[in-house]
Amino acid sequence: MTHPAQPKASHFINGEYVEDTAGTPIPVIYAATGEQIATVYAATPAIVEQALSTAKEAQKAWAKMTGTERGRILRRAADIMRERNHDLSVLETYDTGKPLQETLVADATSGADALEYFGGLAASLTGEHIPLGEDWVYTKREALGLCVGIGAWNYPTQIACWKGAPALACGNSMVFKPSETTPLCALKVAEILIEAGAPAGVFNVVQGMGEVGGALVTDPRVDKVSLTGSVPTGKKVYAAAAAGMKHVTMELGGKSPLIIFDDADVDNAVGGAINGNFYSSGQVCSNGTRVFVQKGIKEKFLARLAERTGNAIIGDPMDEATSFGPMVTENQMNIVLGYIEKGKEEGARLICGGKRADMDGYFIEPTVFADVTDDMTIAREEIFGPVMSVLDFDTEEEVVARANDTEFGLSAGVFTKDFTRAHRVIGNLEAGSCFINSYNDAPVEAPFGGVKASGVGRENSKEAIKHFSQVKSVYVRMGDVEAAF
Ligand code: NDP
Repeated sequence: MTHPAQPKASHFINGEYVEDTAGTPIPVIYAATGEQIATVYAATPAIVEQALSTAKEAQKAWAKMTGTERGRILRRAADIMRERNHDLSVLETYDTGKPLQETLVADATSGADALEYFGGLAASLTGEHIPLGEDWVYTKREALGLCVGIGAWNYPTQIACWKGAPALACGNSMVFKPSETTPLCALKVAEILIEAGAPAGVFNVVQGMGEVGGALVTDPRVDKVSLTGSVPTGKKVYAAAAAGMKHVTMELGGKSPLIIFDDADVDNAVGGAINGNFYSSGQVCSNGTRVFVQKGIKEKFLARLAERTGNAIIGDPMDEATSFGPMVTENQMNIVLGYIEKGKEEGARLICGGKRADMDGYFIEPTVFADVTDDMTIAREEIFGPVMSVLDFDTEEEVVARANDTEFGLSAGVFTKDFTRAHRVIGNLEAGSCFINSYNDAPVEAPFGGVKASGVGRENSKEAIKHFSQVKSVYVRMGDVEAAF
């Protein structure tokens, strides 16, 4: 019998599901059991061509609609997503292995927030009038054209919406390629947009590996590329886009600092560290994986952290009581286990976890290392799994310098009751998305993105509009033209 997660076909182009079994088969594995639940096929060159030509054509009429009309469609799509939240969350859990407890509140819901927010903004995207005596200049905010979205595997619904909603609000069309690891959810986003009234071809989904992404990024018809992925992939995609002088948004990896001062509320700081390391089993780009704890509070913090981490409920992600799921793939599990071994070898002190959980599927116990030093591999490289490194510090000056000593700059957080210090420290940290006495909140109203190697551009908020549109300026002369001859 066909598994309920099996999509009708692999791709969604020009308003309908499209199949081409000549492409490389991509098995979809449910991470909690290792069972194959679906198969999709990578896009062939013919499928890529169909998606790009359709999107290019559909964009023209879409951009000519009023912002109010476009916005209404996006907001209708948001309503449909919310109505179907349960089914979409189950699919997200099949796609990623993340527990239903999380997907019910973080995936289709945040996708719907993006559709609603950018739907609301669509009607207010205007230019300005610049008076110049009798003459004037007016500006228009125009769509870029055809945009390509490429997603990572941790938030397949959210990433499709975070890219699709602002792109469409501005009058662009999109061809979206999900990660080959999680190909299912973006198809549902495409289906819902059509149901909400989006013209066929405005939002298309094609499957495939890096090769398909590469074909999309280098096509001369494409005006913009928005990637969520790792820094190495980001460098390749950015370079390919630059060769075609395309706009880019790069949402890449991190190794973010979470700084806890002696005066912090211990339980809140522990809660922040848990949210910043163990949500989605640690597969979150903005995670605060370098937890710097001031020496005075260290033992108290570690004791409470170990106690609360022991309360994690690891198991069947479809059981709503489960609060901690598996790694997305066997490969990712092995990468993370490799880092855990490195942590042990390099002399970090294991506080809890540290091994694969004793059950089917790709589960790793939530792991905390203490006495981690700046030069250890686990403190330098993005692990993308449930491995928290706790480092000690004495002074504010010292911790800020150490926190900034990394190529990454996605997020940063600080826990302290001293607000003057909180703002000063955040002001001195090299990071794009920061938190004071909190960690990992990502409301659509707030800009999200990194500095340094962690990215270029911002998603969400009014900032995203700037990255999916361009300004045309028009000089209007009221009198005669003066010329030299
Ligand atoms: P990857 O960088 O491996 O892949 C990202 C996407 O790019 C995938 O769809 C991948 O396809 C595609 N791709 C790979 N090579 C190319 C290429 N040459 N040209 C075009 N596309 C290509 O990232 P992961 O999927 O492993 O995701 C984890 C990473 O994503 C982490 O580093 C994490 O920090 C980052 N991330 C960043 C976020 C942010 O907002 N800043 C949010 C979430 C994750 P395929 O995988 O099918 O080969």
